[in-house]
Amino acid sequence: MALQRPPKLKHFLWRACKGFLAVKERRLFYRHVVSEKSCSICSSLDETIIHSTFKCATAKEIWAASSFMAQINVAPARSFVERFMWILKNELVTKAALAWASWYCRNKHIFEQDGFNVVEVAKSWVDLAYESNAYAIKVINRTAPTVGPSPSSWSCPSAGTVKVNCDAYLGAKTGLGVVIKSEHGHLLGAAIREEYGGWNVEATRQLHVDLD
Ligand SMILES: [Zn+2]
Repeated sequence: MALQRPPKLKHFLWRACKGFLAVKERRLFYRHVVSEKSCSICSSLDETIIHSTFKCATAKEIWAASSFMAQINVAPARSFVERFMWILKNELVTKAALAWASWYCRNKHIFEQDGFNVVEVAKSWVDLAYESNAYAIKVINRTAPTVGPSPSSWSCPSAGTVKVNCDAYLGAKTGLGVVIKSEHGHLLGAAIREEYGGWNVEATRQLHVDLD
């Protein structure tokens, strides 16, 4: 992702991602100019780049005042570069989920003409995307590649049949999403069901396999 300006911001990001910011951890490791690496401000944790930019008192105050706190809370915490790349990727996931929700709500409105809160639907799909990603990181140590069925890999079912795509996730809640499409690729139905806890990973995975 190209970041055009300002140059100082670009330079900061390059140094932060490369581990070149002058925090105690780096000064201790490379130059031995400090004898310990506890944070100069809060003293409670090691003065690392991710601590200085996300977790220390000042950083926390800034992030808490932003609209990204929920996203930051589930982001990887091992290094600045890992977290930053995750944030960039999730920006794309958010927008993809909003576009997907817009498409879903449009079709639901056309075919069912139900009154429903489109913003609530969109929010739940963005939440699902984040929780799905957080689950993937936690359990299989990689980020989920897409939100729901991938448009690039989806193909129409044979004539006279429908195709059911589904996905499941475990986060604070357990959720299942199902999309049914016709032989012409038209959306026939879609649903999300969420429940609090109670399902283990294997049960959810098995259901996913059974429905695929
Ligand atoms: Zn601190």
